[in-house]
Amino acid sequence: MLRIALQSKGRLNEKSVELLREAGISLEENSRRLLSRSPNFPMEVLYLRDDDIPQTVSCGIADLGIVGLNEVKERNHPVEVLQHLGFGKCRLSLAIPKYIEYTGPEFFEGRKIATSYPGILKAYFKEKNINCEIREIAGSVEISPSIGLADGIFDIVSSGGTLVQNGLAEVEKVMDSDAVLIGTPGLPEEKMQTVSTLMSRFTSVIRSKGKKYMLVNVPNDRIDEALAIIPSMKSPTLLPLADKGWSAIHAVIDESEVWDKAARLKEIGAEDILILSMEKLIL
Ligand code: ATP
Ligand code: MG
Repeated sequence: MLRIALQSKGRLNEKSVELLREAGISLEENSRRLLSRSPNFPMEVLYLRDDDIPQTVSCGIADLGIVGLNEVKERNHPVEVLQHLGFGKCRLSLAIPKYIEYTGPEFFEGRKIATSYPGILKAYFKEKNINCEIREIAGSVEISPSIGLADGIFDIVSSGGTLVQNGLAEVEKVMDSDAVLIGTPGLPEEKMQTVSTLMSRFTSVIRSKGKKYMLVNVPNDRIDEALAIIPSMKSPTLLPLADKGWSAIHAVIDESEVWDKAARLKEIGAEDILILSMEKLIL
């Protein structure tokens, strides 16, 4: 039986539970419980604050965890990063009031910086040989410069909207982060077998994200041109239609390319373009 720690509420909770569900792992409905067991996979879920997940996994109370890479780096407990899961994408950056001219990382020499990530920030400035005063605060970091608590901040940025609202400009990106699957170092072989089943299911779910299944009918004399427009993972499926002179092409394409490819296919005489959602992509 594997135990996985997930964030109990907050930004990663819903997507973590959804990833398990899409990987075919059912969970008991009552998410208020601290611990819930899957009825169809040898796994139980422990719901925790995200701050506590790296340590819980590091010491083996949970075998696995899903948490932001930023928390893994900040807590610095020995864990193995097994897989990047592609959601919860953000970056950790330094920002200063936008009216101040930025001259490079030396700008921070002797300055005060407010952050909830003192560990990552300390390591960054140590490597750059810059001394600054780090003021650790738990929340609302972005208001610190305007109330005179700090000269700059080091915080999570995704769209950058919060920085702009607070009159701040992002000046250095220190790290990128997304949700990662972490594991206790040195898990025994029998647990690793279940972990690798889980990881290959996650891979299938992650691969299908942003992909669509396209079916399109093309005149036989335009097949080569159509295939040049739709590169596929291996080669696309080509099927003859009952109507002689026509074939159907089936292919997996990126969602972002659907409209462009459909327009180009129509230009070469393709008809009946059907776009379907993809749930899993098992290779
Ligand atoms: P907890 O109550 O569990 O301690 P928290 O308040 O510390 O939660 P959340 O705000 O729920 O944390 O964020 C969880 C994680 O989601 C962050 O550590 C980060 O990896 C990611 N994250 C945070 N903000 C964003 C954002 N704006 N966009 C994308 N991902 C984000
Ligand atoms: Mg937290």
